[in-house]
Amino acid sequence: MIKGQFPVEKFQSLETPFYYYDINLLRETLEAVKKEVEGKKYVIHYALKANSNPRILKEISSYGFGADCVSGNEILRALDCGFPASKIAFAGVGKTDREIKIGLDNDIFCFNVESLPEMEAIERLASQKGKIAPIALRINPNVDAHTHKYITTGLEENKFGLNKSDLPKAIELIKKSNHLKLIGIHFHIGSQITDLSSFENLCVRAVELQNWFSKQGISFEIINVGGGLGINYHHPNHCPIADFESYFRLFTKYLKLKENQSLHFELGRSFVASCGSLIARTTYIKEGITKKFLIVDAGMTDLIRPALYQAFHHIENISSDKEYETYDIVGPICESSDVFGENILLNQSRRGDFIAIRSTGAYGETMASTYNCRELPKSYFSDSL
Ligand SMILES: *Cc1c(COP(=O)(O)O)cnc(C)c1O
Repeated sequence: MIKGQFPVEKFQSLETPFYYYDINLLRETLEAVKKEVEGKKYVIHYALKANSNPRILKEISSYGFGADCVSGNEILRALDCGFPASKIAFAGVGKTDREIKIGLDNDIFCFNVESLPEMEAIERLASQKGKIAPIALRINPNVDAHTHKYITTGLEENKFGLNKSDLPKAIELIKKSNHLKLIGIHFHIGSQITDLSSFENLCVRAVELQNWFSKQGISFEIINVGGGLGINYHHPNHCPIADFESYFRLFTKYLKLKENQSLHFELGRSFVASCGSLIARTTYIKEGITKKFLIVDAGMTDLIRPALYQAFHHIENISSDKEYETYDIVGPICESSDVFGENILLNQSRRGDFIAIRSTGAYGETMASTYNCRELPKSYFSDSL
């Protein structure tokens, strides 16, 4: 088995657990995306919720990408880290007045509207400020993303987005208002999507909806197809970069843009997942009746994905070259779901060995908590250790 490259010597003096980010890999990933979208009318808004570490954000904004935010504070963080307001999209089902005002005051690119009452709130606040809010309607395309049910978001009955039956009312409201400008339609069908045919179905639905709007005499400048491109969690060393080529080729093939139209994407995971690893120290090896438990000093408070949606992460002992043995790798938190992997082959491990939980750059650090009065994990970067 090939292992990831880690500066284990430099880790010796650091307190664990921490996130370690491979900046070179992040840059290679960003280059790969840039290469695919160059010369096309494609705009990428990086989804901050995947990883909002300022160092990572500054790297991403330096490539000229925009941002996709799901809270007022994410908008402020994006602005702080170099994303221009003119490239910030704002999604989320529960935007509060305070958050809407942050968007309006900063003249962000677009509000992705998820319900009629939200549209009314944006209209009211924009009118109070004498502004025109640019909006895109988030529509549930009823496309199954074939991913975990907690991260499927594009089905009809869902807390996210508008259904087709809401559209006549939405249009009426927009037409009546002097403070809303409909600039496009928006979709987001789910996350960690590896079956690209889901995106093909999304394209078909987007074209249908666009035609439906045309019949009402409505055209728009943008189509936003959201994010969701998955990565290969099983082979972080062989396949560290998502298949951006096939992904974008599919949209080029199935979504023909009209003149003056641009296609927007909101990729999160596929930008940052692979470049991050959660590094832990082995606290104990505990012999069970039939199992060996490797207890590490990282827990579900540092990385909740396995506990939250049975997510798989490749795990390596980066301190040992000994024979392989089978372990259950668990954290110290008082919850039975605090398990990173069961029956995992690791080089024979000892107390103090470093364990790398791979592909944790997305939805890792951003979801950390202080449950059990734990500290939030720190972060280190390959180019500044
Ligand atoms: C989470 C989210 C994204 C990013 O999804 P990924 O699977 O990380 O690419 C994009 N758009 C919206 C609206 C989201 O909620």
